[in-house]
Amino acid sequence: MRLILFCLLLLPGIAGAQLTIDSTAFLIRDIYRQSYTELKAYEWLTTLCKDIGHRLSGSEGAERAVEWSKSTMDTFGLDKVWLQPTLVPHWERGGNAQVIMISPEYGAQTLMALALGNSPGTPKGGVRAEVIEVQTIDELRAMPDEKVKGKIIFFNRAMDMGQLNTFAAYGNAADQRYSGPHVAGYKGAVGVAIRSLSSRQDDYPHTGSTFVSDTSRNIPSVALSTNDAVRLSKAIKAGPTELFIETHGKMLEDKMSYNVIGEIKGTISPDTIILVGGHLDSWDVGDGAQDDGSGCVHSMEVLYRLKKINYKPRYTIRCVLFMNEENGLRGGLTYADSAISKNEFHMVAIESDGGAGMPTGFGVSAGEHTKLDEALSHMGTFISLLEPYGIGLFPGGGGADIGPLKPKAGLLIGLRPQSARYFDYHHADNDVLETVHPRELAAGSAALTTFIILLDQYGIYK
Ligand SMILES: [Zn+2]
Repeated sequence: MRLILFCLLLLPGIAGAQLTIDSTAFLIRDIYRQSYTELKAYEWLTTLCKDIGHRLSGSEGAERAVEWSKSTMDTFGLDKVWLQPTLVPHWERGGNAQVIMISPEYGAQTLMALALGNSPGTPKGGVRAEVIEVQTIDELRAMPDEKVKGKIIFFNRAMDMGQLNTFAAYGNAADQRYSGPHVAGYKGAVGVAIRSLSSRQDDYPHTGSTFVSDTSRNIPSVALSTNDAVRLSKAIKAGPTELFIETHGKMLEDKMSYNVIGEIKGTISPDTIILVGGHLDSWDVGDGAQDDGSGCVHSMEVLYRLKKINYKPRYTIRCVLFMNEENGLRGGLTYADSAISKNEFHMVAIESDGGAGMPTGFGVSAGEHTKLDEALSHMGTFISLLEPYGIGLFPGGGGADIGPLKPKAGLLIGLRPQSARYFDYHHADNDVLETVHPRELAAGSAALTTFIILLDQYGIYK
């Protein structure tokens, strides 16, 4: 069997002509074997995390990540590697947030906190006010303005861990962080604290993007660790409690940055594109290992691996490392604008932005002109080749960066790694390389590479 595969790999470029089911099965097995033994993605993730570190848009880390990923892809022997300019917001944290709870029952206690991304700093000396706990934005909206005016609002709704997928739990709790400060500001609050969007009780606060509007422009907002959210809630129940908040965030001028793109040209329909990507920027805490260093190295390995086996795709296979997913999505918007203006057709766009966990399959959504049922039923005929590797298809998926491609894409697909641990680390100081298992990361690269070969071979329709 190895001999057959060996002969197959010596062909002047696999494909062009369609592979047989048997030869595809051999090829899949060999790609997994190569990914598991070479551990290329882990090698790159180590460099990205340990030599470059976190890389918020506009930061020096982001610039270095652009240079590094371009020069790394330059070594793959691709048909083209380039930088796509995109202006990005440039927010700086400016120092650690200080948050102190002042409770008649429990005294003064420092709480573990991180300012929310894009949020403004307080005046020197911070703000201090009584704190009111709410669970939802609707509950806050229903309160009389006089009750909110001059107060600090504490959003304390936990992620619902009864959900099967932690991404759904996150999605159902994220409005507090994104819109909470805007609504609180509208009603006259002077500050906002939110319970971190975390799947664990611990001392790590988790930052993330908040919507800065006319009403929240001057309102500091912080995320508290889940342990300290519990502590604060207990204090409030015991009696009127105050919070002191001092933050240093600053929004600077937009800065020029780049999406990093590489591709292997299609041999039969080069104008049809299969895209795989992740986002190169991260929050300014931890290493951005899970979010989304892992998605970047997954995507890079797809092109590396296809070149290594001398695979000649029917369609153009393109890897895009998007800039600024976290606090602006400018990279995704710039990419889609350019693709739509050039009338490029993305048969499939796949994003890996769910961490480095063991992959369970792909979540699939339809572009504007695609029938999801028909595509799923066609793909069902070949996804069985990936069943031994634990890979299935699920309706519903995609990714933030590829979302704007919807009008011009056949399918939008998201890699779905096992999600139990992802929100323990997401946007926090503990999102570091040490949370990533090399073999699980390699399984993600292999799942993407082999799925893309199947899409390239068999398309999305009969
Ligand atoms: Zn992400």
